[in-house]
Amino acid sequence: MTRAYNFSAGPATLPESVLRQAQAEMLEWQGAGASIVEMSHRGAEFMAVAAQAEADLRTLLEVPDDYAVLFLSGGATTQQALIPLNLASAGQRADYVLSGHWGKTAVKQASPYVDVHIAASSEATGFRDVPPPADWQLSTDAAYVHITANETIHGVQYRTVPDTGAVPLVADFSSSIASEPLDVRRYGVIYAGAQKNLGPVGLTVVLIRRDLLERSGQARADIFDYRSHAARDSMLNTPPTWNWYLAGLMFKWMLDEGGVQVFAARNAIKAGLVYGAIDTSGGFYRNEVVPSARSRMNIPFFLADATLEARFVAEAKAGGLLALKGHKAVGGIRASLYNAMPVAGAQALVAFMADFQQRHG
Ligand SMILES: *Cc1c(COP(=O)(O)O)cnc(C)c1O
Repeated sequence: MTRAYNFSAGPATLPESVLRQAQAEMLEWQGAGASIVEMSHRGAEFMAVAAQAEADLRTLLEVPDDYAVLFLSGGATTQQALIPLNLASAGQRADYVLSGHWGKTAVKQASPYVDVHIAASSEATGFRDVPPPADWQLSTDAAYVHITANETIHGVQYRTVPDTGAVPLVADFSSSIASEPLDVRRYGVIYAGAQKNLGPVGLTVVLIRRDLLERSGQARADIFDYRSHAARDSMLNTPPTWNWYLAGLMFKWMLDEGGVQVFAARNAIKAGLVYGAIDTSGGFYRNEVVPSARSRMNIPFFLADATLEARFVAEAKAGGLLALKGHKAVGGIRASLYNAMPVAGAQALVAFMADFQQRHG
């Protein structure tokens, strides 16, 4: 067996040790006579797995006690609809700041429920930057301000947390959660689909300040109510147990590796290698994001000769570097460098980039 370096944007690479543990426990979980995926979510075994995963995530992200941690299904996109339903009254104003594709999906999902106000957007210049907070046109009566902490497709990331005063900041952290230290207190809500940096698809993590659970929001079914999920420890209905378990193995792995500070250092090294290779290629490769907003998780780039891009992707794949094709919305190449991607993977990519340029430059 040869495991390649997998640069997929999501579902994304997982650490081999996590996959091996899941494999070893697949038929029988810790002497229980059955797999964890075959057990009731209300049984003592799974309840312990679930509680340990929450405790480990709280440790990993230093989540304060006055924040609830929810383990939900439906992906980040579902949260983009649940957030307005839970935090805003019908038709109330909500501010959105757009720095890429996923901010636009957030607007699309929220639009039936709130009066979406685009407080700022970098779309006119091709989503190459985060809109500078000094230019945001925030509403005084907004229910919340929504941002995308890291735009997975456009490769644009906030490096500082914008200040929205008394209006809660809601942030989509799907592709950057746990990649570096995070001051949870600066946010009202943080949400993240797990399939980028936290584990398998099928699980979404929501951190919500408990006072926001008391907002009346608008008419919604119980299953769409964050307060109900929080009151029942995310077991209002059958949760995605396998995904929750696997994410728990990821949280343990990240803690064992040294926590988010260690990953922040590694991620800076990996991103530095790839941006360095792009910037010193004499124009053979180019990334169009302003340096201060360049993502450390997702690096989209282009070849000066776009007709070589398909060959780049194919040759990389043949050389054990998978999933480098850019998203169809922007084209080109994209390298995703989540926590489970080792520094050696970024080194292998950079070596391939130099070799490819040598042969085709
Ligand atoms: C992947 C992604 C989403 C969509 O997640 P789903 O789980 O497919 O709903 C939303 N936001 C960001 C930033 C993402 O990277």
